[in-house]
Amino acid sequence: MWIDSHCHLTHEKMALPPEQLVNNAKSGGVGGMLNISCQINGDFPDVLATAKKFDNVWCSVGTHPHDAGLETEKSVTLEKLIEIANSGSKIIGIGESGLDYYYDRSPRGDQQESFRKHIRACIETGLPLIVHTRDAEDDTIAIMREEADGKELTGVMHCFSSGPDLAAKALDFGFYISFSGILTFNKSDQLREIAKTVPLERLLVETDAPYLAPVPHRGKDNEPAYVVHTGKFLAELKGISENEMARITTENFFRLFKKAKLS
Ligand SMILES: [Zn+2]
Ligand SMILES: [Zn+2]
Repeated sequence: MWIDSHCHLTHEKMALPPEQLVNNAKSGGVGGMLNISCQINGDFPDVLATAKKFDNVWCSVGTHPHDAGLETEKSVTLEKLIEIANSGSKIIGIGESGLDYYYDRSPRGDQQESFRKHIRACIETGLPLIVHTRDAEDDTIAIMREEADGKELTGVMHCFSSGPDLAAKALDFGFYISFSGILTFNKSDQLREIAKTVPLERLLVETDAPYLAPVPHRGKDNEPAYVVHTGKFLAELKGISENEMARITTENFFRLFKKAKLS
């Protein structure tokens, strides 16, 4: 059984309704998925309602770096974020949060403030952090170190697409590394080299659907069922069987996201 550790089931660009996405996933061997929030005062209520509708669909709460500049997101206090994160058994992680200096859709100062708030909420609640980072390697790790400052902080670098330096530092920090369909793209030689160096017990797989469909669906709509393609690709890269990779990444998921319970 595979787990899609990061998807957006109710995203406006998702081609199919959640019922069908979940059915396709389950009949394709994907037994669970983590539905990710991008705006606490935007998509979160829907993200949570969708998670509640299905067995083995969980969710996160958080503000995407693209949305960190919105007044509605900036108005969410640390206390409020903690209160929401602790408000139900389906909410198993905090994010996605982080820094995206590639698109710079929100001012960098706002992204950093928001990232710090999410890290503090993780430390307070003990929930794992789901990190989105692009073209912001130095600031990402610096802020994580500053805020954690010796305190327990767990999490995952989602849709990993940075360089070997950040991979090494994130692993040092105790974080997991999640690979998406990007791993299967032709141009991703450097990413494949990095994947070879990540210890098996720190690997996760994800779709980030509706974006980034893996080969052989590249360029088409993505969905959680397709995490199997990335998982198989990763198994081959690491020289282990598909079943082993499914078992290992699933165990890793439940070790990191301790609140997630299978039903
Ligand atoms: Zn992301
Ligand atoms: Zn995402």
